[in-house]
Amino acid sequence: MKKSEAQNNLEKIVSLAKRRGFVFPSSEIYGGFPAVYDFGPYGVELANNIKKEWWRAMTQLRDDVVGLDSAIFMNPKIWEASGHVKGFSDPLTECRKCHSRLRLDALLEEAGIFADEKMTEDEINQIFEDNKQKIKCPSCGAQDFTPGKKFNLLVQSNLGNFTGDWSKEPTYLRGETCQGIYVNFKNVVDTARVKIPFGIAQIGKAFRNEITARQFVFRTREFEQMEMQYFVKPGDDMAYFEKWRETRFNFYLDLGIAPENLKWHKHENLVFYAQEAYDIEYNFPFGFKELEGVHARGNYDLTQHSKFSGQDLNYLDPNTNEKFIPHVVETSAGVGRTFLAVFCEAYQEEAVGEEMRTVLRLAPKLAPVKIAVFPLLKNKPELVAKAREIFDDLKKDWRSEFDDNGNIGKRYRRQDEIGTPYCLTVDFDTLENGEVTVRDRDTMKQERIKINDLRKFFQEKI
Ligand code: ATP
Repeated sequence: MKKSEAQNNLEKIVSLAKRRGFVFPSSEIYGGFPAVYDFGPYGVELANNIKKEWWRAMTQLRDDVVGLDSAIFMNPKIWEASGHVKGFSDPLTECRKCHSRLRLDALLEEAGIFADEKMTEDEINQIFEDNKQKIKCPSCGAQDFTPGKKFNLLVQSNLGNFTGDWSKEPTYLRGETCQGIYVNFKNVVDTARVKIPFGIAQIGKAFRNEITARQFVFRTREFEQMEMQYFVKPGDDMAYFEKWRETRFNFYLDLGIAPENLKWHKHENLVFYAQEAYDIEYNFPFGFKELEGVHARGNYDLTQHSKFSGQDLNYLDPNTNEKFIPHVVETSAGVGRTFLAVFCEAYQEEAVGEEMRTVLRLAPKLAPVKIAVFPLLKNKPELVAKAREIFDDLKKDWRSEFDDNGNIGKRYRRQDEIGTPYCLTVDFDTLENGEVTVRDRDTMKQERIKINDLRKFFQEKI
């Protein structure tokens, strides 16, 4: 189905996210903090559900992937070995009129000119020079920019080591989570009884000094990644790469995203060690943009860490006695971007009689609240007591919410806006016949269900 105008209206989406407690700008009472966001009470539930689904799909349902939670701070040598200290940069330019700092490759791309952050400074400046008349500052419209300069995205900290031989080196907040996986490769092989091919999965925070961080939670300076490195025998890379491409694409379909809103983007300009790289893109309100990368990275990472650490990171195949540095297929997704994708996908405005309703048609497994329980009237203790009893029982298995505020219509609207799939009302008949009204978010149909059958009903539905 084609996306509706409302779904493509980022302002409406940001406004609902704020109004209903999904996403707050960071440090708001102090005037904010650029490109950092906080998840509010419903946002943290949705983000947790996304992470739960990823973890379940990537570890629990597989016997070839184990989990890890490595630390944010690591020995700074790691970032030298990985190439981040030298090469993790975007081309930065500044508007000479309003002094906005901008990403040059993004400016060029917005003007329809192919550019890539991996190009050298000279390459990208040449393209810039050739197309100068087509580029305007998005803030003030001026066409006068400083030449592009590579700007390193690693976030430095002043965390000190006062004794080690690297005590003079800067420490970093990790720029990606996967380096924690590479440097634990040997530990996992030695302890977890894994055999190649196998993967290590991890969810955690990463930090980048993004130059222009706009587009809400799509690009932030602090964000969470869900990454998995799959270690394979050299030569087997492409077969597993194709399998992972399929698995990861299906993951988003499973979260309720329509296939026409997802597409593959093949990287043409590969880094020298990469064998193949594709991104899964989602049709965000600002166009198709990267949601996840699936990359065949060869043996670059483990080879680098082996060189820099002096440790042998070869794998010894117990069946064939072959020794080799495994090759890696990586799947790398962002929590914030997945959050924004499922939020945009679920957002709907529709007419109900004379009124409009806003509804988040989230997959039930992602919905922050699964069941809302209402007593028909707030001032009837027998209704409130019965509704509480049902709520107290259901909440053990499903995230539920009790609400006795305002008329039922208003309560439905509120739950529609946070994506609650089912609302359940206790009325006077309930006290007589033990039945409640269950209302479905999407169809708005209501049916009477016996209290004793509620568990079975929700088990089937959620
Ligand atoms: P982009 O080209 O959009 O900057 P990237 O190619 O640098 O992204 P990767 O380094 O491949 O991104 O990171 C893997 C995933 O982590 C991305 O697909 C995205 O979902 C997420 N991610 C990366 N940078 C950010 C960010 N600044 N804010 C939110 N999520 C991010």
